[in-house]
Amino acid sequence: PDTVRIILTGHSDLSSLISAINSGQVYRYLTKPWKRDEEFLPAIRQAIEYYHIRRERQMLMNQLQEKNRILHEQNLKLTELSTRDGLTGVFNHRYFQDEVNRQFAISKRNKTDFTLLILDIDYFKKINDRYGHAFGDFILVELCKLVSKSIRVSDIFARYGGEEFVLLLPTTDIQGGRILGENIRKRVEKSQFSNDPHSIHFTVSIGIASLRTAYPNNPSELFENADKALYEAKKSGRNRVVIFDS
Ligand code: GH3
Ligand code: MG
Ligand code: MG
Repeated sequence: PDTVRIILTGHSDLSSLISAINSGQVYRYLTKPWKRDEEFLPAIRQAIEYYHIRRERQMLMNQLQEKNRILHEQNLKLTELSTRDGLTGVFNHRYFQDEVNRQFAISKRNKTDFTLLILDIDYFKKINDRYGHAFGDFILVELCKLVSKSIRVSDIFARYGGEEFVLLLPTTDIQGGRILGENIRKRVEKSQFSNDPHSIHFTVSIGIASLRTAYPNNPSELFENADKALYEAKKSGRNRVVIFDS
């Protein structure tokens, strides 16, 4: 298919020449009697040059395509790195911060509610101390799997830091948040987390605040409110869900 075609023709009939050129993707045509030095050899030389240029262009295009593919892959990886937590794979602090700001603006404009949950593992330090840091990491990963399975695709689940996680529930009121919080709390309580040779139970405490019930002036105020509720949950005995009460 890469052959460069030259027609040598004795026909001076224009229409058959046109059809020959169109059907054969012809580069040049020479009419007979053709002149060797003035026409034939220069045409061959140009055809060879044309062939090389075309091949080089194809090569450059292939290289460009490959580079674009690599760039695209690297961009995906960078996006992944900049938005996800390295250990658990859930969204990271920065992504959550952006999302909560965005959600706050959307909810204010559309006059819709949204709810924030902060989840903290109870006595996690003891788990680390008794079973080691690697097992602690395993617990974090498993907890994330459990929570991820319990939420909607539209919910944003992120690791806020250490063993603290946040859940942002768009267009969900405080009662919806409480139901999900209780659901997660119970599921964790009932689960056995095993990674040979250790197998343990643990619990989580959850603080909740929503736009409609907490009336925050900004996203960080809403976060502080949920954090206060979490503090109450810890103070009142842990393994519980507490709603912020203004
Ligand atoms: P509380 O019930 O009051 O929440 O007690 P706690 O022990 O869970 O809370 P504290 O904040 O005292 O301890 C949190 C622990 O989380 C301490 C820290 O070593 C551990 N931690 C933070 N990040 C990681 C991590 O990435 N991996 C592991 N294995 N442990 C972590
Ligand atoms: Mg804790
Ligand atoms: Mg903590």
